Amino acid sequence: MSNWVFAEEVDGGPGEPALEVLTKAASLGETAAVYLGEGSDRAFATLGAFGAGTVYHLTGGGDFPAAAAAAALAGLVEREAPRTVLFAQTYTSRDVAGRLAARIDRPVISNALDLETDGGATAVTTEIFGGAQLVRTEFTGAGPHLVLVRPKSFAAEETGGAAGRIAAVPLPDVGHPGAPRVVDTILERAEGPQLSDAKIIISGGRGLGNAEAYSLIEQVAEPIAAATGATRAIVDAGWVPYAKQVGQTGKTVKPEVYMACGVSGAMQHLVGMKDSKRIVAINKDPEAPIFSVADLGIVGDVHDVLPKLTEALRARG
Ligand SMILES: Cc1cc2nc3c(=O)[nH]c(=O)nc-3n(C[C@H](O)[C@H](O)[C@H](O)COP(=O)(O)OP(=O)(O)OC[C@H]3O[C@@H](n4cnc5c(N)ncnc54)[C@H](O)[C@@H]3O)c2cc1C
Repeated sequence: MSNWVFAEEVDGGPGEPALEVLTKAASLGETAAVYLGEGSDRAFATLGAFGAGTVYHLTGGGDFPAAAAAAALAGLVEREAPRTVLFAQTYTSRDVAGRLAARIDRPVISNALDLETDGGATAVTTEIFGGAQLVRTEFTGAGPHLVLVRPKSFAAEETGGAAGRIAAVPLPDVGHPGAPRVVDTILERAEGPQLSDAKIIISGGRGLGNAEAYSLIEQVAEPIAAATGATRAIVDAGWVPYAKQVGQTGKTVKPEVYMACGVSGAMQHLVGMKDSKRIVAINKDPEAPIFSVADLGIVGDVHDVLPKLTEALRARG
C-alpha cells in the first residue's frame, strides 16, 4: 500500500515542509506525491529525488484551489486507495486536508511529530502539555489515514530517485458562486537570515520593554548572522511582524542555538523552539519557566546583558 504526500508549489517547486514529509514517507515504502501548482520538469525531478515514485499533478484551480484540490484528491483516493495521505502543516495543506476529510468521511490527525506504518495500520505520535507528554494514536478505521505533520519533524533528504510517472489531474469545477479572488498581493520584505533555515536564532519577548528595544536583538544577531524571532506578546503588541513569531501559532524552529531574551517561556512559545540543539535564556526573573528548558541561563536585565554580548561578538570579528 502506498503513502501519498500532498505538496504545494512554493517559488516554482515543492515547499521544504512537504519535502520533509516526502522523505519520511519514502522511508516507509512506496510513495506518491500529489502536487498542486504550475508544475515543471524541475519540480517533478525534485519530488522524485525526495522519494516520490509517482506524481499526481493537480492542474488549474484559480486563486484559492483548496476546495478543488480536495475534490480531485477525493476522487483519486477512491480510485487508488492509498494507505495514507500525509500533509505538511502549512496553511494550504490544512485547508485541503480538512476539506478532504469531510469529503471522504475520515478523521485527520494534526500536529504529528512522527508516524509508523505496519501493513494497513498507521500510528501517529503527537505531543500534549507543551511537549511534556507524547501520545501515540493508531487509526482504527478504514484508510486512507489523513495526517498533518508539523514542520521540522523530519529532515528533508534526497534519496536519489526519479519520479517514474507523472499523471496530470485537472482540478474539477467545484462551483462556488462568489468565490474569493486575490485582488492584491503585498509581499513582506524578508531581510537577513530567515527563521526557517538559520543556524542561530535570537528571539525577544516583552521583557525588552518597548518596540525600540528590539534593536538590541538585531544588534546581537548581526555579527553572527543569526535570524531574529519573537514571542506572540510582542507580535500582538505590533513591535515586530508576525513572520517573526515562534511558537504554537507561529513558526516551529530547530536551530543549533536559540537565544531567548526577555521571554518568559510560556508553553505556547516553548512548543515552537524547545527542540533547538542549545537554548540560552536571559531573564531577570530566576524563576522564569524558560530556564527549565535552557542549557545556559543568564539571570540579568536584557538592557545590560545584550549590549555587552554585542560588544563581545563584534570584538571577536
Ligand atoms: C492559543 C494561544 C496561542 C499562542 N501562541 C503563541 C505563540 O505561537 N508564540 C508565543 O510566543 N506565544 C504564544 N501565545 C502566548 C503565550 O501564552 C505568552 O503569552 C507569550 O509567549 C508571552 O510572551 P513573552 O514571554 O514575551 O511575555 P511575558 O510572558 O510577559 O514574559 C516577559 C518575560 O520577560 C522578563 N523580563 C521583564 N523585564 C526584563 C528585563 N529587563 N530583562 C530580562 N528579562 C525581563 C520577565 O521576567 C518575563 O519572564 C499563545 C497563547 C495562546 C492562548
